[in-house]
Amino acid sequence: MDYQQILNTIQEEMSYRDVTGKVASYIPELAKVDQKKFGMHVYCGDQKNFSFGDSEEKFSIQSISKVFTLAIAMRLMGEDLWDRLNVEPSGDPFNSLTQLEYESGIPRNPFINAGALVISDILLDQLDDPKQELLDFVRKITGDDDIHYDKKVASSEKSTGYRNIALVNYIKALGNIKCDVEPIVDFYFHQCSLAMSCKQLSRAFMIFANRGKILETNEKILKPKTVKRINALMQTCGFYDEAGEFSFQVGLPGKSGVGGGIVAIHPDNYSVAVWSPILNEKGNSELGMKALERFTTLTGVSVF
Ligand code: GLN
Repeated sequence: MDYQQILNTIQEEMSYRDVTGKVASYIPELAKVDQKKFGMHVYCGDQKNFSFGDSEEKFSIQSISKVFTLAIAMRLMGEDLWDRLNVEPSGDPFNSLTQLEYESGIPRNPFINAGALVISDILLDQLDDPKQELLDFVRKITGDDDIHYDKKVASSEKSTGYRNIALVNYIKALGNIKCDVEPIVDFYFHQCSLAMSCKQLSRAFMIFANRGKILETNEKILKPKTVKRINALMQTCGFYDEAGEFSFQVGLPGKSGVGGGIVAIHPDNYSVAVWSPILNEKGNSELGMKALERFTTLTGVSVF
């Protein structure tokens, strides 16, 4: 399908002026981002690409990185991973501590911060150099070595990261963290600081639209069963306490981050990434969600 016409319509119809949210400021470095930025990139199963706006500018992918670390953890642990994590939507904000108390330190899912921090612990425990191995994995599935951590963003988050530090301490007290707290949060702040463009993200996520194989080389990276589970988790838990709304409006498995990025996939068909830094009150890109709603409505292509 030729998606360019539809992307052009979305770009013409939508503006950052129409949204009312705010750029994330609890990570000081993210508050400096230009709120006018808006870009979108679609990467199709036939290797055609369509885009508009700031689609090649890198931004902080933040929680989108949780999908990459989950994929690595599933490769390392297989089904044993689910002894340490649950697979239910949380219905709570991404940084919430409350459910951990009555659910004995087992996070609801791998995409809330509590769950991603347990995954950081697993990667730190099992890999010699988790930061390098995460970079290698992301570069490989993207087919692009120009992907790096943004050290400024990582240290900025560290300077105000009390909630995440509290989460790791609390889960450790409840017996579901093995490593020391400091290296876990250091790794987590680095993974969140990964800087990628919409173009790079849509290429990377093609692995989840292509049943675990790199599209261009046909190299098998993840088992189809792993991909099925990751996509199911993106569908049910990818947008925290707005996962139902995203499913309802857009109808695709996806993942957001507080840098204003969203990536979504349609199995066997396409991967789409959008970036607009203004967030709604749930911490998801306000314009990004609207753009994806228009995209699946105008194309008539969603999983439902
Ligand atoms: N690094 C961010 C945090 O831990 C990621 C949150 C997000 O993107 N939703 O708060």
